[in-house]
Amino acid sequence: MPDDKLNDEAGRLAALARYDILDSPADGAFDRITELVRAVLGVPICAVSLVDTDRQWFKSHPGVDASETAREIAFCDHTIRGRDAMIVCDATQDSRFRENPLVTGELGIASYAGVPLETPDGYNIGTLCAIDTRPRDFDPGQIAILKSLAALVVDQLELRNMADRDSLTGALTRRAFVAEVDRKITLFDRGQRPAALVMLDIDHFKRVNDTHGHAVGDKVIRAVVQACQGTRRPADTLGRLGGEEFCLLLAETTEAAAIQAAQRFCYGLRNLVIDNDPPLRVTASFGVAAIGADRMTADLWLAAADSALYEAKRNGRNRVAVAPLVETRAA
Ligand code: GH3
Ligand code: MG
Ligand code: MG
Repeated sequence: MPDDKLNDEAGRLAALARYDILDSPADGAFDRITELVRAVLGVPICAVSLVDTDRQWFKSHPGVDASETAREIAFCDHTIRGRDAMIVCDATQDSRFRENPLVTGELGIASYAGVPLETPDGYNIGTLCAIDTRPRDFDPGQIAILKSLAALVVDQLELRNMADRDSLTGALTRRAFVAEVDRKITLFDRGQRPAALVMLDIDHFKRVNDTHGHAVGDKVIRAVVQACQGTRRPADTLGRLGGEEFCLLLAETTEAAAIQAAQRFCYGLRNLVIDNDPPLRVTASFGVAAIGADRMTADLWLAAADSALYEAKRNGRNRVAVAPLVETRAA
């Protein structure tokens, strides 16, 4: 593996972003791995640490309450700079860590063994690490086990990505997207956080297939998705609901803002020239539905967006229609 990847921070962060794992809910698959590390290595603390721009965020962290720390104090930030395990037998004697608040503070890290989580394309996105509150050594057999389990963590991330992502476009599958929609409904239920769906379907797409063939049709679908991915904000998600029908889930977005966003997407596609011989252009129709009291299941909310999309088709395509909210807000 060429080691210039170790110095490619932008590439590393992009690799991490592809897994879409930061701030995701706890997950038994990772907890089983960290519990195994605790049992086999005999350490009180283990973590799956993902190293983000300015923080390390723990996907699993038995033995420690915090779900993240600043990157500048993270032992794991040192581990990801190399290919091999990093072992610290006594942090109080190590000039890199002696003054570190994770060592001098309440957590009291005294020893550490971390193995980089290396993606198949060679980026270290984080670590699997074992931590003790007393100085100790880690023998080669234990490090070998830690390495195997770190590889299992990456396998697990890869498998979930394959299960959740559509292979043609990289958008979320319908199942994964509906799970996100359900999550937003729960957030809305708890704290009235606004959110909106923008559903889109490419106009007269059958003609593209019929005129240019299925392979060019696929290329058009990919170009449309790329255009949407380029325009959406990081907190928004895009799912492929079927064929050439997609849906954006816009976080923290009111109905008015979602309409504006949909118009931006619509305009963006109208002006997109798709690289082909001859170059192609397509349009799409959009249906907007903000979350509301009458849309508190994924089925109902998606049906509202779908009916607006249908209206946009009926009214001539290449436009945005809205499924208006029933105003039920208390004063
Ligand atoms: P409308 O404006 O009413 O949406 O017209 P349309 O022709 O786009 O109609 P519709 O949305 O019903 O057609 C979808 C077509 O998309 C039918 C199907 O053959 C094609 N399709 C679905 N999935 C794929 C795919 O993965 N690749 C390609 N190339 N075509 C696909
Ligand atoms: Mg269509
Ligand atoms: Mg369709």
